[in-house]
Amino acid sequence: MTDQQHTAVPRLTITQDNEFFFSAAREGRLEIQRCTDCETLRHPPAPTCPHCRSLKWDTVASTRRATLHSFTVLHHPKDPSFDYPLAVGLVDLEEGTRLVADIAGIDHDKLEFGMELEVGFAEHAHGEMLPQLRLPGSTDEEAGR
Ligand SMILES: [Zn+2]
Repeated sequence: MTDQQHTAVPRLTITQDNEFFFSAAREGRLEIQRCTDCETLRHPPAPTCPHCRSLKWDTVASTRRATLHSFTVLHHPKDPSFDYPLAVGLVDLEEGTRLVADIAGIDHDKLEFGMELEVGFAEHAHGEMLPQLRLPGSTDEEAGR
């Protein structure tokens, strides 16, 4: 990370509904919120189930295996917290919900819809660990971290 003082990336807002997600991420685990009444998974974390409106939930551990549903490559505006061009992907997690994260360690012209990816973790602009999409089995070094 470079020049974090001038980043426009907002600080995370940690609440009692999303704290589990960021705590797990700090330990390299991906936890997904699940409604305990209807078992619908949801991400990002929220207080209420969008399917049945229940307030009851627990979490399931993700395998971190995913397939690339869509992606874009950002060129502008540039934030000092990221390297550009910056690929950002929307993936279908094996568990059946979706997640958005930056893509690291893959040539952008090699990105294809449906390709297998893995969710790793990388440091956020303000020092938090957040998901990052990589080739399956790649190390932090291979992902460019
Ligand atoms: Zn529900």
